[in-house]
Amino acid sequence: MKEDYYEVLGISKGATAAEIKKAYRKMALKYHPDKNPDNKEAEEKFKKAAEAYEVLSDADKKARYDQFGHQAFDGNGGFGGGGMNMDDIFSQFGDIFGGGFGGGGGFSGFGGGGRQRVAKGSNLRIRVTLSLEDIANGVEKKIKVKRKVQAPGTTYKTCTTCNGTGQVTRVTNTILGRMQTSAACPTCGGAGQVIDKKPSDADAQGLKVTEETVSVKIPAGVVDGMQLKVTGKGNDAPGNGISGDLLVAIQEEEHSTLKREGDNLHYDMYISLPDAVLGNSKEIDTVTGKVRIKIEPGVQSGKILRLRGKGIPSINGYGKGDLLVHVNVWTPKTLNKKQKAFFESMKEDEHFEPKPESSDKSFFEKVKDMFS
Ligand SMILES: [Zn+2]
Repeated sequence: MKEDYYEVLGISKGATAAEIKKAYRKMALKYHPDKNPDNKEAEEKFKKAAEAYEVLSDADKKARYDQFGHQAFDGNGGFGGGGMNMDDIFSQFGDIFGGGFGGGGGFSGFGGGGRQRVAKGSNLRIRVTLSLEDIANGVEKKIKVKRKVQAPGTTYKTCTTCNGTGQVTRVTNTILGRMQTSAACPTCGGAGQVIDKKPSDADAQGLKVTEETVSVKIPAGVVDGMQLKVTGKGNDAPGNGISGDLLVAIQEEEHSTLKREGDNLHYDMYISLPDAVLGNSKEIDTVTGKVRIKIEPGVQSGKILRLRGKGIPSINGYGKGDLLVHVNVWTPKTLNKKQKAFFESMKEDEHFEPKPESSDKSFFEKVKDMFS
């Protein structure tokens, strides 16, 4: 008949987690093999305490034990006759004595499965300059990238220091006896593999720099400063690690005539006095080529013509911005005699007196409209 776990630790059934931990800590220190050399009885008590703690410190196992007793663990992953081995017990000390022994690494959990870190190659960063037209339409850019790749002919073998696990277990002697900690393997840096053979032009990791043309699909509507990621086009990792990423920073080239404001574009159109009076049509730039727009006779300087959908597509895919054409009537600075005579003769003509209509919106109303 197995001893009751609560009795082993000298606690009552209602003990809290903190009390259980405290009781085990006391037992572990008291019966530690280093303090009781060649004492079979102490070693037995030490093992029993560890087993009891292993169950009672785990909420799930504790619940099963409280309900079914030792039967809860018979034949289904229990400790059989042998109980816990010393390695299991020492690895348990991590929770009990707060870890941090040996500086770094931390304690491995039960079972010693060990996590394997996957090595990842470093990321590469490049900047790509795009015209407003490229941004408006989306573009596929072929970019030359110097990236480190695994040199052909490089072979890897399992790291013998860590047997391919990428982790090493350090045993440190402390007042509590041997403490076991895990850390990344110093030989392979956690990759689990080391170079077997490599060509002479490869670096210490079996990598060499090559120039590669990477195709980057840039969606319409990107914004200056935005960063796109091309997965796996950074530097390779040594061995069976995964490659880093290529990070592409977007830089927007300034357009000669169009100014961007979010998804909207602005164009300053200058027209002559006769065109303003008589009307005309004029070609203007857009991101999809030139378009001809009509100028109504009597157009006022400062009028804004809105070309719907002639702006930049939204990066989120919701529609397109507009192109706002600002009308500027250009007033000549000098006149010849004949021209001067004409304007002089019109000076007293009442027809040239400004008579703004309600449809001629003020500057402030136009600004309000633009953003609505
Ligand atoms: Zn290793």
